[in-house]
Amino acid sequence: MNIILLGPPGAGKGTQAERLVAERGMVQLSTGDMLRAAVASGTPTGLKAKAVMEAGELVSDEIVSGIIGEKLDTLSAETGVIFDGYPRTAAQAESLDALLAARRRRLDHVIELAVDEDALVARITGRFTCATCGAGYHDTFKQPKEAGVCDACGSTTFKRRPDDNEATVRTRLAEYRNKTAPILPIYEVRGLVHRVDGMADMADVTKAIAAVLGE
Ligand SMILES: [Zn+2]
Repeated sequence: MNIILLGPPGAGKGTQAERLVAERGMVQLSTGDMLRAAVASGTPTGLKAKAVMEAGELVSDEIVSGIIGEKLDTLSAETGVIFDGYPRTAAQAESLDALLAARRRRLDHVIELAVDEDALVARITGRFTCATCGAGYHDTFKQPKEAGVCDACGSTTFKRRPDDNEATVRTRLAEYRNKTAPILPIYEVRGLVHRVDGMADMADVTKAIAAVLGE
């Protein structure tokens, strides 16, 4: 089983990927992580990537493909793969097909955690945490029982992440749309795209993904 998992920041993609890894023994291939690992371990492609990055240049598609290929070659045939953050372009989508075909694999599903952007903005921008114990709260969905006092530890100091503001969240959503726009139609045509409601409870999202993947 080889899938691409898509979802904007804040849609819970990381959590769902973790569950697939824990419950199905799948491997999550995030190109950023793989690139760093390949550079650190000095694989042939990693060394190439290192030289390019040290020269301050962008790592080419060819190098990224090389790194993914090297990683796929370390996995047993039964190990399912979750592609995260790749492909981003039509050219990379083609490379991925070739990489998989060369290893007798194929792409089975593209799962997108679909969100209502306004609701997601409200969800993210309302978050705050206790500065002392880290307990999580929300302006709308989870106020402390006593206003201004942490339920867990009684602290009266709270903090918000600076990037949890509306402008930043909207920018990240727009970036996500721009990044996925080139590849979604390719997989739509092939009937591989499944949209799962990313606004639902985590457990329901997990169930919906399980329904797509089958038992
Ligand atoms: Zn607290």
